[in-house]
Amino acid sequence: VTATSVPPPDGEGAEFARHARHVVDWIAAYLNDPGQYPVLAQVQPGDISRSLPAAPPREAESLDSILADVDALIIPGITHWNHPGFLAYFATSSSAPGILAELLTAALNVNGMLWKTSPSVTELEETTLDWLRQMLGLRDGWFGMITDTASTSTLLALAAAREAKEELGVREHGLAGRPELPVMRVYASAQAHSSVAKAAITLGFGRQNVVLVPVDDAYRMDVHRLAAAIRSDRDAGYLPIATVATVGTTSTTSVDPVPAIAEVCRREHVWLHVDSAYAGVAAILPELRHVLDGVEQADSLVVNPHKWLLTPMDLSAFYTRHPAILKRAFTLVPEFLTTEHDGGAVNYMDYGVQLGRRFRALKLWMVIRAYGVDGLARLVRHHIALAQEVSALVRDTEGWEQLAPAPFSVVCFRYAPAGVEEATLDRWNRAILDRVNASGEVYLSHTVLRERYALRIAVGNLRTEQKHVARAWELLCAAARRASETDDAETQPPEN
Ligand code: PLP
Repeated sequence: VTATSVPPPDGEGAEFARHARHVVDWIAAYLNDPGQYPVLAQVQPGDISRSLPAAPPREAESLDSILADVDALIIPGITHWNHPGFLAYFATSSSAPGILAELLTAALNVNGMLWKTSPSVTELEETTLDWLRQMLGLRDGWFGMITDTASTSTLLALAAAREAKEELGVREHGLAGRPELPVMRVYASAQAHSSVAKAAITLGFGRQNVVLVPVDDAYRMDVHRLAAAIRSDRDAGYLPIATVATVGTTSTTSVDPVPAIAEVCRREHVWLHVDSAYAGVAAILPELRHVLDGVEQADSLVVNPHKWLLTPMDLSAFYTRHPAILKRAFTLVPEFLTTEHDGGAVNYMDYGVQLGRRFRALKLWMVIRAYGVDGLARLVRHHIALAQEVSALVRDTEGWEQLAPAPFSVVCFRYAPAGVEEATLDRWNRAILDRVNASGEVYLSHTVLRERYALRIAVGNLRTEQKHVARAWELLCAAARRASETDDAETQPPEN
């Protein structure tokens, strides 16, 4: 058999720079005006897949034609999270330094599973997460690592919480078929993110062993109810394992009373994990540093730079004060991964589920350097100010109602003229959301608060300015008029 040489595909070698310039020019034009596209993809389910060949090409295709198809076939099905009118969920942005870092990460294609498989991956991750810790105003003594998402970070936190009760022997013996084990319980507020329940499902605690603690009028965990739930569970033979407190809940961005929760957890020997996936970043602002009060007493913390810190998806920062416990939960080193002469360096594969490790730290490092801590703080402050303008409009305009306090850059509200019954208000507000989103100019999302359908504006995109928020408000007011008029016309008895 003679080896044949494989010709490089179009785009490799000398052609690379030409295609790269094309892609970079495309990106530059895109970032210059992402508002040129409708923010919400205007396609129906199946439209995109129908436009694609059902089978892969047998022969190589030119990158010119592939890139032309990205424009023609793929972009129409993109909902533009980089659009300044993106005001849904938690708005995010990929900034230029983050994008350039992603390009380098793909080019280097290193795997940081061990320190020695790319020392820069490990050491930049350690350094950058330590920078972020300082930016958040947290004391020294936290071990940081990057995961893909807050959901994964919370999963790791709860796995560590379980491992902290080493005497249960879950790592070696599992949970199944062990009647001697108590049923383990996790506590979180009724407003906590679904990732807590998902982690409990994954770890075998079972969904019904996530105790949803009621919240107060401002959607914050009621700490007395937490303490009572833990106490009565203990009396009933359950084993309380962990509490997840949220700083910036997903629906309303409420902040659980972490210092008081930490006190209960300390007393009860329960692991405290703080989920500040969105709002933790606000602690960069000196005037909002207090939102992480009490976190020093927590056992673990997650904050997502891919939400509000200009870092492209995906980058979640997970911190724990007990790396030895986290390591005990996950380390498993087959012979072929053993290392010597690394001076006791961190091998991140020991601290989680994944072995292979993307070079994610580079993008956060480049973003922090390119904006500076003050630059990032200015942007977060600006987003909060824009959201506060929306909040003022809602409160000052007759017929509208704010449904929760707005401590950060998210406002929950609804159109609720006096004298209209609840079912009608829900229907109107659904119709308002559909109409506003169909405009393609802005994209809002919704939630349900105390059984009321709520509209939700989340400011968090790098390019969102006052005029985008003002336009959203105009569209909302027009859609509200339309919803009530249409509904009135439909519900009038026919004239004859
Ligand atoms: N925790 C909170 C409070 C969130 O708001 C979210 C997402 O919005 C998550 C966790 C999950 O984030 P991720 O998509 O990074 O898993």
